[in-house]
Amino acid sequence: MKNIRVRFAPSPTGYLHVGGLRTALYNYLFARKNNGKFILRIEDTDRSRYVEGAVENLIASLKWAGLTFDEGPDVGGNFGPYMQSQRLETYKNYVNELINKGDAYYCFCTPERLKALREEQEKQKLPQAKYDKHCLSLSKNEIEEKLKNNISYVVRLNVRPNQKIIFDDVIRERVDFDSNNVDDQVLIKSDGFPTYHLANVVDDHLMEISHVIRGEEWLSSTPKHVLLYDAFGWERPRFAHLPLLLNPDKSKLSKRQGDVAVEDYRDKGYLKDALINFVALLGWNAGDDKEFYYLNELVNAFSLEQVNKSGAVFDVVKLNSLNALHIRNQSNEKLLTMLKSEIENSELRIENYSDERLLLIIESMKERVSFVKEFITECRYFYTPPAEYEQKSIEKNWKSDTPNQMKKLAEAFSLLESPSKEDYELAFTKVAEELNVGNGKLIHPLRLAVSGQSTGPGMFDILYILGKNEILKRINSAINKLK
Ligand code: GLU
Repeated sequence: MKNIRVRFAPSPTGYLHVGGLRTALYNYLFARKNNGKFILRIEDTDRSRYVEGAVENLIASLKWAGLTFDEGPDVGGNFGPYMQSQRLETYKNYVNELINKGDAYYCFCTPERLKALREEQEKQKLPQAKYDKHCLSLSKNEIEEKLKNNISYVVRLNVRPNQKIIFDDVIRERVDFDSNNVDDQVLIKSDGFPTYHLANVVDDHLMEISHVIRGEEWLSSTPKHVLLYDAFGWERPRFAHLPLLLNPDKSKLSKRQGDVAVEDYRDKGYLKDALINFVALLGWNAGDDKEFYYLNELVNAFSLEQVNKSGAVFDVVKLNSLNALHIRNQSNEKLLTMLKSEIENSELRIENYSDERLLLIIESMKERVSFVKEFITECRYFYTPPAEYEQKSIEKNWKSDTPNQMKKLAEAFSLLESPSKEDYELAFTKVAEELNVGNGKLIHPLRLAVSGQSTGPGMFDILYILGKNEILKRINSAINKLK
């Protein structure tokens, strides 16, 4: 079998789109699973779309996600350069070969003529505007004359009419196009730069790419690519076109309906493990109902044959629940590092919190949060006394005899020395017995007094984490405020 070499070939438009992340991930998984190479190639030949810093940004997002590439602009490799803007001479040489063979031709048509042609075709209600091969009939002499006079030109692919263009796609199986519907694609633009189609095919060939794995939006370009491979006499790679990503209303995933940049998700606090896990499932599953994966497990489980044809819905609710699951499965030490950076950015002034204390907070809340920042926002009472008390719980749990019962609890707690969680529990049970009330009668108002809330982790965990002095203060202040 041929060496497996795949590439992710983004155009640097400013950020890594989540759809791009999925394409990169599937390429990465396919390469790793088959002991192949994963290559990053930057397709930056459209100068009008050039964005400063975009390449660095792309690379940073891929690295954050853990998708390491074997060859690329910053790691090098034997097939470089990996930036198309540094390969312009190569494309020119190859296009000359096509011109000499009659598979491509110079076109000197002015923008005005092309516009008039388009308008005419629109009037005739043709299904799509197509170049009319006007310049294909120019004689050698005419062409030379125009070139000598520096008349602006493009080079076009010479698509022969009435052919079936057939190719195999790993996901879509056999695909065919009618050449009558394929335009004489511009290969070299008037600024001398190649178009995506030419540069992509030349590079995939020269970089010995075995499989082209990319989004479905490129499927309609593939017949042009196939014609180019055939014209050059090159072996075609295998194609695999990945299903579209859709909004929940089944429209194409767009910026208007939510975030599409990987960095937005990172900044919102999604773990890279969760985002990778989620993105992997956009169009693929292993044929069972397993949904929780780490990157290394995906490498083993992934296969291109199991990628679906139909569009995949980008469901943020599912992403959130995967984030929660990944937090649960993350080590407390890793979460501690993340929590500390959240603390630095928090509007709450959280100072003098030992790692030990933060780890206790993490342990008690781990099953209850979907984001690391919720180790603060969902349990502010660990960091600051309650500013208010949940009204519903006051009505339900704070009765006329409650202040007295709370006083008794406070007294019992104050006698404890360096109490453990169990010490609190024993003292609590004893007071409940003495007062002859069920635990429930005491625990709800106690929770309200120390946290201001009616739900949260185990009561004795909260007491232990807050510490004796703090809980005594809080019980007293609740007694005063909730009279
Ligand atoms: N440069 C194209 C993009 O931005 C690459 C498409 C392909 O993989 O062929 O996605």
